[in-house]
Amino acid sequence: MTAERIVVVGAGVAGLRAAERLRELGFGGEVVMVNQERHRPYHRPALSKHLLTGELAPADLRLRSYLPLELSWRDAVSGIRLDTASHVLELRGSEYLRYDGLVIATGVQARRMPGVPAHNPRVHVLRTVDDAVALRRTLTADNGPVAVIGSGFTACEVAATARELGRDVTIVSRSTTLLGRAVGSAIGERVTRLHRENGVRLITGAEVLQWLSQPFGVTMLLSTGQPLTAGCVVVAIGGVPAVDWLRGSNLYLRDGVLCWPNCHVVGASDAVAAGDVAAWPNHRFDTQPRRVEHWLNAVEMGRAAAESLLAGPAQARRFEPVPRFWSEQFGVRIQAAGMPSLGQYTVTLQHEGTPSVTGYLSGHRLVGVLGWDNPAAMVNWTAELERHLSAEPPAHATTDPPPRDPTAALPRIPAPQGIRTDPPVKRTDTPRPAPQSTRVRSS
Ligand SMILES: Cc1cc2nc3c(=O)[nH]c(=O)nc-3n(C[C@H](O)[C@H](O)[C@H](O)COP(=O)(O)OP(=O)(O)OC[C@H]3O[C@@H](n4cnc5c(N)ncnc54)[C@H](O)[C@@H]3O)c2cc1C
Repeated sequence: MTAERIVVVGAGVAGLRAAERLRELGFGGEVVMVNQERHRPYHRPALSKHLLTGELAPADLRLRSYLPLELSWRDAVSGIRLDTASHVLELRGSEYLRYDGLVIATGVQARRMPGVPAHNPRVHVLRTVDDAVALRRTLTADNGPVAVIGSGFTACEVAATARELGRDVTIVSRSTTLLGRAVGSAIGERVTRLHRENGVRLITGAEVLQWLSQPFGVTMLLSTGQPLTAGCVVVAIGGVPAVDWLRGSNLYLRDGVLCWPNCHVVGASDAVAAGDVAAWPNHRFDTQPRRVEHWLNAVEMGRAAAESLLAGPAQARRFEPVPRFWSEQFGVRIQAAGMPSLGQYTVTLQHEGTPSVTGYLSGHRLVGVLGWDNPAAMVNWTAELERHLSAEPPAHATTDPPPRDPTAALPRIPAPQGIRTDPPVKRTDTPRPAPQSTRVRSS
């Protein structure tokens, strides 16, 4: 590639790691970082954890680069329009950037809820460091009850952190178990128990129908008929891909930016996408394009996208990772590898008092593993899963009917300890439409 200028839109971790990889691979042209935020790239997972508790300040979260990077920064500026035919990106403020290569890494934005009182300082979402600082300000200024709307990772982590800060916390969730959509019913129930045991009040199967701003808090009328009043409300109902700026660009935008298996964007030349915004078929699993909203995937995909951009679409390699993620709630570290959300059945792979490693099967295939506060075991099981998934997936792997006897799959999984069969993985959330691609992490 003889590119002179590569533009990276979105300065989150995927964008930063893409820029780094471009330099590592010897790209000597200009790299422009279009950074919508006022802050340089930072560690987003800490927002719901150590930043909210006050253990870390925003400055502590700044991401360091592994090598000296010469980048041209456009801070606090968004890309607002892309012309893929003439290779021009328009920035807010009437700057036009011609590019030879483009990295789309704009992530997701917090999903908004209709009817929420606009500009009420007690009502928050949590996606950016500014959001987290504002939320912490409310939490420290008001000792009233906290309401968290949602049942995904961000909702659970915020609820856990607020409890640890000594607050009275209620989660309002449409689904009956927390995290059920991402990790299945068995683990979802355990997460739900963990929250109850730590004093979180749960109102499940409920939605907020109406909002009322009051001088001392916010009152919500729930679909169960109950009113709920809180001094601080966090709406954590997932993310929406940040693709508005790409409307009219000829790209496929059904759920994120549709990519080929090698991160090149469908519908444009010299453009790749990475991180939460990118939907691509991970051939290790099947041919269905999906987005993965996890930190390590954004790191790896940023690097892979940069490699693919320099290699060109014909030479680029497929990006087929075994995705990994973690969450921390009440001191419990939940780690997963693969795609638990594709599992139809779970099996207990390792048992130490409580089942500490759970496997997820799709048909006869192990597609994910999840560790409950057992990082050491997860090292082995992640490696085991990688070996298991190194074979080509059978055609229609994820659409096979579930096996009559799920234990039939077990001889193919060497287990360090006894394996048990758990009940089928039930999805507990209301399914959302997924026309061409589906999400893996719900918040
Ligand atoms: C509170 C919270 C906790 C999390 N905890 C975990 C965790 O424990 N484990 C885990 O695996 N994952 C976690 N995640 C998910 C993880 O942070 C994301 O997967 C990761 O940040 C995705 O990186 P990204 O670079 O793709 O997108 P982002 O980090 O969202 O970065 C995208 C950037 O692009 C910018 N942008 C958007 N539109 C434009 C535009 N038009 N022009 C210019 N810039 C634009 C955005 O403002 C943002 O700065 C958490 C996320 C949140 C919000």
